[in-house]
Amino acid sequence: MGSTLRIQDVSMSFGAISVLKQINLDIRAGSFVSLLGPSGCGKSTLLRVIAGFEAQQLGSILIDGRAVEDVPPRARNLAMVFQSYALYPHMTVSENISLPLEMELLSAVQRLPLVGRMAAGSKTVWTDIRRRVLDASCSVQIDHLLERRPSQLSGGQRQRVALARALVRSPGLFLMDEPLSNLDAKLRVAMRSELVSLNKQLESTILYVTHDQTEAMAMSDKIALMMGGSVLQYDAPEVLYTKPGHLDVATFIGQPA
Ligand code: ADP
Ligand code: MG
Repeated sequence: MGSTLRIQDVSMSFGAISVLKQINLDIRAGSFVSLLGPSGCGKSTLLRVIAGFEAQQLGSILIDGRAVEDVPPRARNLAMVFQSYALYPHMTVSENISLPLEMELLSAVQRLPLVGRMAAGSKTVWTDIRRRVLDASCSVQIDHLLERRPSQLSGGQRQRVALARALVRSPGLFLMDEPLSNLDAKLRVAMRSELVSLNKQLESTILYVTHDQTEAMAMSDKIALMMGGSVLQYDAPEVLYTKPGHLDVATFIGQPA
């Protein structure tokens, strides 16, 4: 089941520059929400703050009711997908996908007493990892590429590997930062509907960053429109379109993509 995400009065500055200004967002479990806005408005920074990569300065972020900073990084029930795929070139596709699971297992094992550690090293655990890698690869149709290395894949295939690597841990929350923007137009459109069906099928919550309003309109249950570090409006796509609550919203939505 997907996680709930509650962002309350989150503000953030780099030196004297205020990048996030009192952001408030309530995201329902299982929904697909886009953070939409022009380049430089603070989308990636907000995503990094939610992931706990940036120490947030003011306000609070609750995932399933728990403050992000109270949960150790590896125990957080979330996965991030970036525009640059960040795959390990020396590893196979299969190894790239299983790595997060192995890391999770390893850090869990380190907390176990000796008997538990021996059990965790057992064959069933590794069989389970193999099965989950296969499941994740099947859901993004790369199960025939598992023994290849990233250099032997197309851009679209690499992005699918990055997706599978996020899927494999079955997180309650996906944070996606312009994951399709390196793909050609045709593939991008195909991947949009695949992401939407993954969202419905897995019931995971997806927070999706994009500067492309066509993309946000096509995919989202709700859109948070950001400008200059503020969320100007948070509504369903059709509401943003028919009842913009701000002149800047109307202007941005009215622009050709
Ligand atoms: P977006 O993802 O919407 O394009 P970002 O979140 O990347 O925007 O950036 C928002 C603003 O914060 C920009 O003005 C950017 O230059 C600034 N910024 C981002 N990261 C840093 C940093 N590490 N140090 C200083 N300024 C930063
Ligand atoms: Mg960005």
